[in-house]
Amino acid sequence: MSKRILITGAAGFLGSHLCDKFVSEGYDVIGMDNLITGSLDNIKHHFPKANFQFYHHDVSKFVHVPDQLDYILHFASPASPIDYLRIPIQTLKVGSLGTHNLLGLARVKNARMLIASTSEVYGDPLVHPQSEDYWGNVNPVGPRGVYDEAKRFQEAMTMAYHTYHGLETRIVRIFNTYGPRMRLDDGRVLPAFMCQALRGEDLTAFGDGTQTRSFCYVDDLVEGIYRLLHSDYVQPVNIGNPDEVTINEFGNEIIELTNSKSKIIYKPLPIDDPMRRRPDISLAKKILGWQPQVDRKEGLAKTLEDFKDRLGL
Ligand code: UDP
Repeated sequence: MSKRILITGAAGFLGSHLCDKFVSEGYDVIGMDNLITGSLDNIKHHFPKANFQFYHHDVSKFVHVPDQLDYILHFASPASPIDYLRIPIQTLKVGSLGTHNLLGLARVKNARMLIASTSEVYGDPLVHPQSEDYWGNVNPVGPRGVYDEAKRFQEAMTMAYHTYHGLETRIVRIFNTYGPRMRLDDGRVLPAFMCQALRGEDLTAFGDGTQTRSFCYVDDLVEGIYRLLHSDYVQPVNIGNPDEVTINEFGNEIIELTNSKSKIIYKPLPIDDPMRRRPDISLAKKILGWQPQVDRKEGLAKTLEDFKDRLGL
């Protein structure tokens, strides 16, 4: 019999790519989303398939799924700083109440639960690169606190269910990820820069653009998550691409790729914006035999095609 998996945040960027993976691997997939930041456009290609179902539901409220369930992937959450500033309470609720509801469901179903945690648990890190044993530097009451603390609570709650109820749990700490289907207006740096470059507008770098990020192509991330789910490792695991760039370098790569005449202009740095971020992926290499395969040039080219399509260019 097919394994049955619930994917929350299914209509979002990462959730929809996870649906693609598990549908193509022959799982029975239930996608769940409240469609606040997700879009059915991302998953409508699965609607005709016998092994895909969609539930329109907010996981911050009691979650019911009939029959057997083998796995739960909790990927529902706003993930862009401008989204979680716009809907801070929902962001806190989906990471806390939503996680609790899903852990309860996992317990009743005897399902294995994997949660989407984040490099944001490291905050504005004082250790570089970030390895899993670093506890982070987070401002709980700053504007990003609603996301960071929800995710930190989510990790703590998940670990408590593992320890006290013996639930099978997995925790992935996801670093900046990009690829097709990112919401054009989600405010994150890649959609912002790519849309600006394609429209011939100047690229808005925040601060002086010397802050760094390390961008992972979505297919690599999905493979890492798939391996982690099927591993027996319970502690958090970083999944990301350690190839670190400054935001200025990233902007110039996008200008070059799109053959744009745009320039980089500078806007104020958001409060608590981390200055440096790069995953230490030694653990993922060791226990999952995983490392990214897609370099930025290739990943950006694939992403560009999708953005052009959606912008009608
Ligand atoms: N950023 C920028 N211009 C934009 C959007 C973001 O310079 O239009 C910067 C932002 O200040 C941060 C980095 O790009 O330093 C990555 O931001 P993003 O929102 O993509 O994700 P974060 O890693 O901060 O969660």
